Amino acid sequence: MLTCDEYLMPESADEALSELGDGKGGARIVAGATDILPWAREGRGGDVHYARMIDVSKVHELRGIAREDGRVRIGACTTIGQFLSDPVLLADSPLLARCAVWFADEQIREQATVGGSLVNASPAADTPPPLLALNAEIILLRLQSGHVVSRAVPLKDFILGPGKTALAPNELLASIVCDATPGYCAAFEKVGHRRSLAISTVCVAVLVKPDERLERFADTRIAIGGVGPVAERLSEGEKLLTGEEISVASIRQAASTAASRVASRTRREYRREVVTNFVVRGIVTALKQAGVARQKIDDEEYIHA
Ligand SMILES: Cc1cc2nc3c(=O)[nH]c(=O)nc-3n(C[C@H](O)[C@H](O)[C@H](O)COP(=O)(O)OP(=O)(O)OC[C@H]3O[C@@H](n4cnc5c(N)ncnc54)[C@H](O)[C@@H]3O)c2cc1C
Repeated sequence: MLTCDEYLMPESADEALSELGDGKGGARIVAGATDILPWAREGRGGDVHYARMIDVSKVHELRGIAREDGRVRIGACTTIGQFLSDPVLLADSPLLARCAVWFADEQIREQATVGGSLVNASPAADTPPPLLALNAEIILLRLQSGHVVSRAVPLKDFILGPGKTALAPNELLASIVCDATPGYCAAFEKVGHRRSLAISTVCVAVLVKPDERLERFADTRIAIGGVGPVAERLSEGEKLLTGEEISVASIRQAASTAASRVASRTRREYRREVVTNFVVRGIVTALKQAGVARQKIDDEEYIHA
């Protein structure tokens, strides 16, 4: 069971950070509580008691979605549901909506925040692969000599392992700044025990920018999650595709580099096959949206598997 002496709802980062102090005084941040509550309720955390729970969902610095210097700033308290409805995200980073349709169900999506998902750092979480493909940076806030100061950490350096991040005990995750991706097509593939109410076992996020004649790969970004302790970009596969002619052979060759990333000991061969097929399918799905001729990319064995 989860209990606390005080449940606080600060409205500014200054107030929230003051309550958090050095982070060692028995305070716990909470946003949508979709990780914390089941963790305590299902007994995985045992009986948990905090002196203070600091609900950050009203903190204005952690809210909102805006274009900024050609990139997109997403407040940490943005819910996964907003990925499906926010006009800026739908226009500038539609990969996030493709991820959100696979995320839990409507009720959980309305509660679960992107900040909570990243701090929770589950190897099977859905949000890290698309955010890695969007070159996301994590903006962290802390109090220094009574002033709120920030630092930026690339997402690839923020999640350190299962349940481990670069967040210091006295910091808040304030926002995520990621690329706007005009000219790119996006795809997200996921396999889980069930389509929605289980977190994924393997997921792949793909962004593809073909050249103007739709014949070559101008840029490709591929990130995979659920196959190792942290989600990763498939940089070897990305490099193989850059400037390469769009063909089933080039797609398959790039996708084959994904198999070596599977670290899980359980069902390793199955995961290798799934992740390779998913990378193929993700690239093909994205290319189809771009209008690339079907005969260039159709691969019955993978697409309809
Ligand atoms: C039924 C169900 C289905 C689910 N399905 C999926 C799924 O399909 N895919 C998936 O990826 N996940 C899934 N999840 C997991 C969960 O919904 C996500 O991890 C969620 O995004 C966590 O966000 P939250 O706001 O609820 O976090 P919370 O539970 O509020 O917090 C999680 C952790 O983050 C910390 N924290 C939160 N916000 C901040 C902040 N701004 N700064 C610093 N620390 C912070 C908290 O202290 C805590 O340690 C599911 C969960 C449930 C219960």
